[in-house]
Amino acid sequence: MRPREGARYAFEIGPIRPPSEGRDQSLLIRATRNCPWNKCAFCGTYRGKRFEYRTPAEIKADIAEAKALADELKAASWRLGWGGEIRNEVISAIVRGNPEIYGEDAVPPELREARFHSLINVANWLASGAKTVFLQDANTLIMRTPELVEVLKAIKSTFPTVERITSYARSETAARKTLDELKALHDAGLSRLHIGLESGCDEVLAFIRKGVTAAQHIAGGRKVVEAGISLSEYVIPGLGGHKWSEKHARDTARVLNEIEPDFIRLRSLVIREGTDLHARYLAGEFEPLSEDEIIAEIRDFIAVLECRSYLVSDHMANLLWEIEGQLPEEKARLLKIIDDYRAQPLHKRLEFQMKRRLQSHLSVHGGIEPGTKAKVETAFKAIESKTDSMEKEVEAALAALKQGAM
Ligand code: SF4
Repeated sequence: MRPREGARYAFEIGPIRPPSEGRDQSLLIRATRNCPWNKCAFCGTYRGKRFEYRTPAEIKADIAEAKALADELKAASWRLGWGGEIRNEVISAIVRGNPEIYGEDAVPPELREARFHSLINVANWLASGAKTVFLQDANTLIMRTPELVEVLKAIKSTFPTVERITSYARSETAARKTLDELKALHDAGLSRLHIGLESGCDEVLAFIRKGVTAAQHIAGGRKVVEAGISLSEYVIPGLGGHKWSEKHARDTARVLNEIEPDFIRLRSLVIREGTDLHARYLAGEFEPLSEDEIIAEIRDFIAVLECRSYLVSDHMANLLWEIEGQLPEEKARLLKIIDDYRAQPLHKRLEFQMKRRLQSHLSVHGGIEPGTKAKVETAFKAIESKTDSMEKEVEAALAALKQGAM
């Protein structure tokens, strides 16, 4: 690697990106830090972290660093005889050949980790065709429009192979932008926004402190669609608990029917320890749905959907990953997936739940800690012998498996 004076050999990467951007190996560019709202009761992603704008100059310096790393990776590949192809051997050669940049003794651990993350993000992105970029963190749309346009243009001019630039946004922020501003962002290269709708039910939105009403969701979402920006709306089945389950399903579907987003993505509720929702659950203020009740709620939700959207269950939080298809054409098929599941006897459904959740847990952790393992074994034994307590044992095992896995 050519030494570059003053180079950090790393660019900032925030904590999360949507699974679809992970699947596409998007290059991650951090346009702002953390979440400007940071009050949603179910979310702990940015808890305790202050929101910060980054200047276009800072962001463009990161884009330049990503470009330099991409050039180094390609050059190393040619040097090693791989003809520009980015393989593990290329990454290893760069790391091994540059101990002053990646060596354990030469660099503080945090910077070393940032350098590895940056190198691997760029390598994966190049290996998958260098086509997609995701702007972090929680609400990039909050940037002043001319500054965001400047960043989008910098990405497009630095990386001519990029076909798609996406980001997270809040409905409330989208609703505050003018249509012309959103069109300007689209023209500059913003292809898709991922918005956390969570619910279209005002009671649920108030309870979880989403800071947005159903009407604002509709106004923001419709404006994004009208500007020509592809829109993914995220829904959280189970978020209304027992109290609002029916209304949550119905109102959310109605709001989406009005927005007509390109994608509707399901993220079934997982109550994470350390969140306000977890505290309210412990205080008896929130009564969560069981796995089967969430599935029933999803059925009610899909039954009311009439929009032309692609429904996706691309997250481990969902029990039935099979619920995926184009609406309205495939609505009957999607409902049948749910009906087939619900038609199974209780012990079969519990066994299915356990196997799915165990699979998700193992894919994240690679193993299982002794306390959780004991609960899992007890639950499987209870299912096998169909004891009266099998539902209770499964509930305890699922709660343990879900923590940290999703
Ligand atoms: S807006 Fe998004 S990132 Fe921010 S607190 Fe709510 S769910 Fe979390």
